Amino acid sequence: MNVLILGKGVSGQGAKELAEILGDTCTLAVDGDKILWEKFDLCVTSPGFAMDSELIQNAGKHGLKIISEMEYGFLHYPGKILAVTGTNGKTTTTELTCALLESVGIEAACAGNIGLPLSSLCAEILSGRKSKNTLAVVEVSSFQLEHIDKFSPHAACFTNLASDHLNRYNDSLAEYRAVKMRIFNGVPAERRFFGASLQKNVSSLIKIRNNFIYYKGTEIADYKDCKLKGQHNLENIECALNLVSTILDENQMLSLQLADTLKNFRAGHHRIEEFEVIFNGRKLTAVDDSKATNPHSVVAACKTFAPPHKQLHIILGGLDKDMDFSELLPCVPYFAKCYLIGEAEDKLYEILSPHIECQKFGKNFKLCCQTMKNNAAEGDILILSPACASMDMFKNYAERGDIFKENMLDLNQ
Ligand code: ADP
Repeated sequence: MNVLILGKGVSGQGAKELAEILGDTCTLAVDGDKILWEKFDLCVTSPGFAMDSELIQNAGKHGLKIISEMEYGFLHYPGKILAVTGTNGKTTTTELTCALLESVGIEAACAGNIGLPLSSLCAEILSGRKSKNTLAVVEVSSFQLEHIDKFSPHAACFTNLASDHLNRYNDSLAEYRAVKMRIFNGVPAERRFFGASLQKNVSSLIKIRNNFIYYKGTEIADYKDCKLKGQHNLENIECALNLVSTILDENQMLSLQLADTLKNFRAGHHRIEEFEVIFNGRKLTAVDDSKATNPHSVVAACKTFAPPHKQLHIILGGLDKDMDFSELLPCVPYFAKCYLIGEAEDKLYEILSPHIECQKFGKNFKLCCQTMKNNAAEGDILILSPACASMDMFKNYAERGDIFKENMLDLNQ
């Protein structure tokens, strides 16, 4: 088979690895490349190519079958797949699901949007570098669901839905939701799970009552003993436990190992990551929540702290994805002041400044952090939870979070 792979990034390289293992001939292409369409049998696309991109449109015109890199991986994957989608909580839920499975001795690997393309994991297995029993827990973005056909995981969950990436879906939340719902194609009803805010788990074996977590009526853990915090993470826990309950037996679900893992699991870096800052004799709490790239995740962070007085000094802004920032208004009572940065600062200013003091810093992140520290009183919380993507000022959200931390801990500023 002659495969045209769109994109030369991580996903494109993953598809290439798999094509080579399968003995398919492949060519990687990006915008502007000259393509002899007639010679290809299949087009495998990376998530960065939107439906209306020139290459996708041209592939369609030439009658070429287009599938996503994830579908390509799925078609050749020998083991079971659990899949996770949603606006927020995908990475946390995917990593937790994997950790819970591993705690009871199941071979599992995280894949998909999380960094390792499903095609790469598949290539590792087919080449014998990983066991063919490896269960894949796949983080799935809406972009990856745009070109699927046969993708049907063993079980799947949809954590929550809020406005994000709407610039790719004609500003339509309904369209974005419809694409996300494709994760359930071919999944039996009893193995389709939804986060608490979507409230559809009628037949779930996992129940959460008064912050206690139960499996078939038996308590697994008390949420207050878990390292994860906030109602949003309880939603992620419920999703992860529902997924693993489709694989594990009752003994495994009620094992000490699983309960210990649940209690000790921490979310990855840049997700409500707290640290202490002592500045000019004042004790402050700084929070790196750089991964909060939409208003819904910022609301989750604010609710996690829910300070009684106006104690949150918050950095908002960055690259706007046509988002509805009015979703931030319920958080205003928690804010001491908003520090606005990046391309979205004017839009944020317009919405927030009638209700709360706002200051714009453009691309001067250092001054923004400095001003924030100078303004904060003993006990205040300094949080980077920007509701926007980072690429107007930083390489990615991780770099934004790292620089925030450096600035917070710099005593000379
Ligand atoms: P994703 O992979 O979907 O981006 P992450 O687990 O990486 O999700 O978390 C991204 C951001 O969303 C972080 O700021 C985190 O605190 C927040 N978050 C995590 N889970 C949820 C949830 N269930 N609801 C709302 N926000 C969440």
